[in-house]
Amino acid sequence: MKTSIDAARKVFRRIVSSEKYKYSILIYSIATVHMVLIALFCYLHILPLIIFNIISVITYLSCAWAIHYDCKLIRIFYIVYAEIIAHSIISTICIGWQFGFPQYIIALIPFGYYMCHSLIDGRRKYLVATLLGIAGFISYIGCRIISLFSGAVYEINVSTLLEFFIYGFNTVCTFVFLLIFSLIFVYEMQNATNKLSNQNAILEKLASTDPLTSLYNRRSMQIFLNHALESGSDFCIFMCDIDNFKKINDTYGHDFGDEVLKVVSSIIQEQVEDYDYVCRWGGEEILVLSNNSTLTRSCQIAENVRRNIANNMFHNGDKIIHCSVTIGVASHQKNETVEDTITKADANLYYGKRNGKNRVVS
Ligand code: GH3
Ligand code: MG
Ligand code: MG
Repeated sequence: MKTSIDAARKVFRRIVSSEKYKYSILIYSIATVHMVLIALFCYLHILPLIIFNIISVITYLSCAWAIHYDCKLIRIFYIVYAEIIAHSIISTICIGWQFGFPQYIIALIPFGYYMCHSLIDGRRKYLVATLLGIAGFISYIGCRIISLFSGAVYEINVSTLLEFFIYGFNTVCTFVFLLIFSLIFVYEMQNATNKLSNQNAILEKLASTDPLTSLYNRRSMQIFLNHALESGSDFCIFMCDIDNFKKINDTYGHDFGDEVLKVVSSIIQEQVEDYDYVCRWGGEEILVLSNNSTLTRSCQIAENVRRNIANNMFHNGDKIIHCSVTIGVASHQKNETVEDTITKADANLYYGKRNGKNRVVS
């Protein structure tokens, strides 16, 4: 059972994912309904409807051929729309209302909106779909009026069972048509929603991270810092700066400098706690927001960062290069702004720079 549902789902996805497949299957299905109707009208000896349905089948087969050769789908849609309305009216004129042919017109309205939405750009799609809907409504009411005031052209005496069968056939076709299009509509809407949320996630990532290091950018960090301040909890900030980075760039090239920056960033990211935030604050300066942390704990983390970077071997071809960072740590005090805490961390960093680099200062 599960495998057949999966198989059906696969076929459905395959059909829906290709415009050509989707509309060709629709056209062949309508042509098949008309072939059944040809047989029915032959049995009932109603020549105009036999001729109309033969022309309809030829039209639909031509439409399928046109779809295959990339004809504009909107033209095919207008032909289908006109044919279904014309068929409902002629059938009602010939044999009366009770066989349920005008029901097809009702199904045309949501179908029209779906097709206009898929095939027409801009606001015109609402106008066209609404005009077609009004045309459908007028035709439906027209069929009822014709059947009430002038009766059927052909007096046909069929058993109640056959009358019920013809009415049932038209009802089932209408419902299946509506059901399938509703399913396709929901499926496509779901796909569009998923696509949009994936794109939003990508945009969000692009807007909040630094492309080189994949760390948060300064803009995102301002938001995290404000949250930390508003929450009233203790937090520390540490500012890391790569030592003699200019020299690394000058000696080994800017690309290698980028590589060092990436590795340093990933080491910092690995060492901090899961709920801490790391951002690229400026060129080769990295700021860490250490949430719910004491100064002692933050200094321990900063020391781990410093040691891991100092012990790391950076490979440039067959050369092994070492580099280091200096880190200034500061804890946020009540009544202080975030900028005050950053300034303290900066001051500690520059104290470390002036006193030999490769150290943590708090
Ligand atoms: P100090 O130890 O005092 O920090 O010395 P330093 O050479 O690191 O000092 P400074 O801050 O003056 O130099 C930073 C250099 O970092 C200058 C700039 O060219 C380089 N830099 C900034 N951003 C990038 C980047 O994205 N990639 C590379 N490769 N270099 C960068
Ligand atoms: Mg530096
Ligand atoms: Mg610097």
